[in-house]
Parts: sequence; structure tokens; C-alpha cells
Amino acid sequence: MRFNVRRGTGDNGRRYLHIHGDEPTARDVLNTHMNTHAGIAYLIDSSTRIVTIEGLKIDPNRLFSRIGAEKSLRTQNPGVTSFDHVLAFLDQHRENLVRHLEPQHGNLLFALHNNRAYSVTEEIEQSDEVSIKEPSRPREFFLCTDSRDFSVLRQSPYNVVYQNRKPTEDDGSLSRLAAKRGFRYVNLECAVGAYDAQLERVRWLDDHLK
Ligand SMILES: [Zn+2]
Repeated sequence: MRFNVRRGTGDNGRRYLHIHGDEPTARDVLNTHMNTHAGIAYLIDSSTRIVTIEGLKIDPNRLFSRIGAEKSLRTQNPGVTSFDHVLAFLDQHRENLVRHLEPQHGNLLFALHNNRAYSVTEEIEQSDEVSIKEPSRPREFFLCTDSRDFSVLRQSPYNVVYQNRKPTEDDGSLSRLAAKRGFRYVNLECAVGAYDAQLERVRWLDDHLK
């Protein structure tokens, strides 16, 4: 699993992430954004959602814990019975990756995604608070895990959900990692192909969340 690293106009501690290779609009938006904004962006060097590590398939947004990684490996590699060598490899390298992605100076990690079927309606029930300003655009929404970030994002003209529940299960995703480590994390979902809408929301966040 390799990342292309884009340094912005300075480093304010903000980190950006594009982790699913089959979400090209988010990649394009992030590349454009970094031309004029500060922080460091990590863009996965893959054209597919699932990546291969040590010969086995895994969702890259499920490897941030050993438990989550094992679940994803079981799902993605039917018939394979032992994952010990991949799990050991991940245990050895996970901390290094996290060190790069972890925001600095109290700043936040901002992950950009695109969807094809998924929408905010699936997140409402498991959210602590929601602000749905664009009910006709359910595929475009922010998900945040810090209450102060929510208090700002809810003033935007966009859809936002806030989730800060104690997770019942560790799925190995970045939002769980952020909760565990106590750093700010915001996820932006937009329909694949909605380039202008996604760039507009990324800029709104950067202008309003410091
Ligand atoms: Zn994604």
C-alpha cells in the first residue's frame, strides 16, 4: 500500500486523506485543493478500493486496528484460513502510517470519499446529532467526531452528522482510531462525479474550521 504525498502551501498541522482508490472525484478535488491550501495530503496510489498486502486483500480503511484488519481479511479472502503473517506485518507497520496521518497542533484529519449508493440516511440513526440542510442531496454530507467541529459545521448550508458514541465494536476504521487517540476527524462523502460540490464543501470546511 503506497501513498502519494502532496504538501500544501505550508504546514498548519492539518492532514488530508484519500484512501479508496476507486473514488476518483475525491482524489481530483484534493489535488486541486492542495495547490492553494496548507497541510499535508496522503493519496493512496491505487485505482481499486481493495488493496493487496502481503498477498491478501484488505479494505485500507479497516486496517487501523488488528481486530478490524482480521475481519476485513476474512471477508475479502474467502477460503483463506490463516492471516497471521499479514496481521504481524500490519502490526509492525501500522504505527508508522498512523504517525503520518495523525494531525498536529490540535488540527484535524480530513478524509474525502465518494459514494455510489450510500447516503446520510444510513448514518442518522447511529448519530448523536444531525443537521440536514440539504435533504434533497443525501449523498453529500460531513461526518465529524468532535463536538466543537460539529458546532461550526452545523452552521454551514450542508448536511452534517456528529457521532461520538463509544463504539460497540472496533472495525479498524479511521474514525475509531481518531476516537481512541483523541484527535479531531472529519469525513466528507459526496456522490462520485460531483466534483464542484465536493470542492465547494472542502473549501467551506477549510475556511471555517481552524
Ligand atoms: Zn471511501
